[in-house]
Amino acid sequence: MRGYLIFIVLLACLSTQAQHTVKWPGHHKAAIVLTYDDALESQLKVGVPQLLSKQLKATFFLTADIDTLTIPKWKKLSSLGYELGNHTMYHPCLSIEDNPVASENYTIEKMLREIEIMNNYLYAIDGHTSRTFAYPCSESTAGKKDYVDSLRDYGLVKYARTGGDTDAVITDFSKLDLLRVPSYGLEGNNIAADLIGFVRKVEKAGGLGIFMFHGIGGDYLSVNPKAHYRLLCYLRKHHETIWVTTFKQAMDYATANKESKPKVDRLAANHKKDKFQPVSGRSNHN
Ligand SMILES: [Zn+2]
Repeated sequence: MRGYLIFIVLLACLSTQAQHTVKWPGHHKAAIVLTYDDALESQLKVGVPQLLSKQLKATFFLTADIDTLTIPKWKKLSSLGYELGNHTMYHPCLSIEDNPVASENYTIEKMLREIEIMNNYLYAIDGHTSRTFAYPCSESTAGKKDYVDSLRDYGLVKYARTGGDTDAVITDFSKLDLLRVPSYGLEGNNIAADLIGFVRKVEKAGGLGIFMFHGIGGDYLSVNPKAHYRLLCYLRKHHETIWVTTFKQAMDYATANKESKPKVDRLAANHKKDKFQPVSGRSNHN
């Protein structure tokens, strides 16, 4: 009995360690991704100068709401290593007052076609063929049917970001759906301590944390520019231990550097198997 208890305690300890499934590059202990949705003016006016001043990379999920004035700016950011992601052309999601294009009126085919056209649009801007995606309103339905698996089948995007809260700390990449990557969606009333608190949580877990911003000191769901700046200062100060990179780069790295399934899982599995295996013990090794 005592031996069994020690075995269980050992399993519990090792399971805790097994949470850290990615060894981040260099001395980095965690990764943070800053994402900004909807191609908003305040991002270019306020967010970008702050990012540039702190030399921090980010991902901008653009819709077709870009024009002759802003396209050169997005293009310039891409040339500096920032990522331009796909956020559809017209931002279709379930009917709400401030969303003019209703996803209820879409078919899955129409949604995928729109994502494909936006991919081509972005290719014309930055020349990249591999694209990441963010679901409008963090919803994934067209005509009330979920389109994630169709998006996966068509291979239009490599990774897709969805919503979430401060629990969106990713540590176990073996269980992560690459087309449903959670993020911390900011409501707009957050103070610097909220933002930095999330980073600390990610650091503690040794995982990946993704922020979803909209307006920065303007537009909507707007985060106070001072709070945003303080977050960037924190990230800059800890840049040797926190890797701040683009969504695509973080995901490429994490999926390529997943640690193999911990030995302890196999031990646990065998332990379980032994317990329930029939006495005859015959098994197929196909
Ligand atoms: Zn959006």
